[in-house]
Amino acid sequence: MPEVAFAGRSNVGKSSLLNRLVRRRGFARVSNTPGRTREINFFRVNHQFVLVDLPGYGYARVSKAAKEAWRPLIEGYLKSTPGPRGVVQLLDVRREPSPDDRQMLDYLAETGVPTIVVVTKIDKLSSRAVTEHVERLGRELELDPEQIIPFSAVTGTGRDELADALAALVLS
Ligand code: GDP
Repeated sequence: MPEVAFAGRSNVGKSSLLNRLVRRRGFARVSNTPGRTREINFFRVNHQFVLVDLPGYGYARVSKAAKEAWRPLIEGYLKSTPGPRGVVQLLDVRREPSPDDRQMLDYLAETGVPTIVVVTKIDKLSSRAVTEHVERLGRELELDPEQIIPFSAVTGTGRDELADALAALVLS
């Protein structure tokens, strides 16, 4: 079955997004203890495709070794065959992309995996601030604004757009 992977720093809102996406509470765990996820979770959806929840990276309050543990896990998965049809990279609307975020995006661009960028937690900013952030991000990361989906797990904004983008990836 085709796989689509979800990546982002710890606490970016990945579990909340996955729960919204599949319209189930508690489908993916929403973490009380960020930085603890050290495994890759695979969720089969409708016998059609598999959502791959990659470990969150970059949590500050863990040891350097624990901080780096995600790298071989994520890179190993991305290098595996057949590998994912696409990767959804999550970025928090209130933060600048971290060096790890940029490294992930560079890595994805190098390997040529189709990438969708989702900007999370947009309910925390005004719609004008969100638009400005998305435009700036597009320029900085050299992405088409159409490649960026503004999302809120609280209001559901962006859910259908993301579902359509995933369907396009999986069916391509
Ligand atoms: P993960 O570590 O990336 O899986 O992130 P979680 O889904 O566990 O979310 C981290 C924190 O951000 C939790 O306190 C969530 O309730 C909160 N959160 C996640 N998504 C949203 C969102 O769209 N809006 C708001 N306001 N908070 C969110």
